[in-house]
Amino acid sequence: MTRAYNFCAGPAALPTAVLERAREEMADWHGKGLSIMEMSHRSKDYVSVAEKAEQDLRDLLAIPANYKVLFMQGGASSQFAMVPMNLFRGDSPEQFRADYINTGQWSKKAIAEAKRYGSVHLAASTESNNFTSAPLQDELNLSADAAYVHYTPNETIGGVAFDYIPDTGDKPLVADFSSSILSEPLDVSRFGLIYAGAQKNIGPAGLCVVIVREDLLGQVIPGTPTMFDYKVAADAGSMYNTPPTYSWYLAGLVFEWLKEQGGLNAMAAVNRRKAEKLYSFIDGNDFYANPVAIANRSIMNVPFTLADAALDKTFLAESEAAGLLNLAGHRSVGGMRASIYNAVSEDAVDALIAFMADFAQKRG
Ligand SMILES: *Cc1c(COP(=O)(O)O)cnc(C)c1O
Repeated sequence: MTRAYNFCAGPAALPTAVLERAREEMADWHGKGLSIMEMSHRSKDYVSVAEKAEQDLRDLLAIPANYKVLFMQGGASSQFAMVPMNLFRGDSPEQFRADYINTGQWSKKAIAEAKRYGSVHLAASTESNNFTSAPLQDELNLSADAAYVHYTPNETIGGVAFDYIPDTGDKPLVADFSSSILSEPLDVSRFGLIYAGAQKNIGPAGLCVVIVREDLLGQVIPGTPTMFDYKVAADAGSMYNTPPTYSWYLAGLVFEWLKEQGGLNAMAAVNRRKAEKLYSFIDGNDFYANPVAIANRSIMNVPFTLADAALDKTFLAESEAAGLLNLAGHRSVGGMRASIYNAVSEDAVDALIAFMADFAQKRG
């Protein structure tokens, strides 16, 4: 078996050990004579898998007892609608208001969706600098009548990350952690709600994890579909209907793997080292550039450009031939992007840097 180094932004690399374990358990799960995919989600066996996955996630993130963990479908994009439907407050749509911080493509999509249900006040936007930084705390213009404040701690496309958790006073803080959850420890108690599509740092696509403070449940706006009501999901243990059982199981294997690696402090140390190496190589080489303010550089998604964009295609072809996959930047911005999530090893980053150095020397 040959495993290439995979820098895909999502669906992203999974730990090889997790895939091997899934393969071993595939056709005959724990000697039961059937696969996990073929079991009732209400069976004792499956429920034990689902509950263990939740407990391991709670352990990893030290999630306080007054938070529910939901395993939902529809990706992070469905959360762009579920958040306003569950968290807007007031007696009529005219009163539905929230603050949003705009730091890039994913913030924009969240904002556009919230506007379908109520009004959005921009607490800050970095669009004028082409989304190459995050706003500072004292640049946030928070409004008195917002039901919540939404932001994107790690913008996957621009490679821009907040280096602090915004202080929003008594307003619930809502965060789209799709591309950076589990990359380092997190103080969950600072948030009203956290959501994350699975396919970057959790497991396969098809699952979206929501971590929500209990007191925020049970006040959906009129017309909210049953499946979009967090309280319905919470009361049913995320099994109001059939959940994506295989994705949930595989996420559970990833959580176990993270614990075996030493948990999130250990992951953070490796992730910081990986990112530091790559950024310092880029900064030290005239042929490569990254436009993001140093304090806001993502440790998960590292976009970079070549001095001569005419060489982009050659770079991509030669890196792929060298076993370094999926380095093209997002279709909206071009250039390159290396996503270096938890499952992307330090060896992969070293191999990438060696390739980049060689390429710059030959073509630069
Ligand atoms: C990938 C991503 C999304 C979209 O996720 P889907 O699961 O495809 O809907 C949203 N927000 C961020 C920050 C992302 O990285």
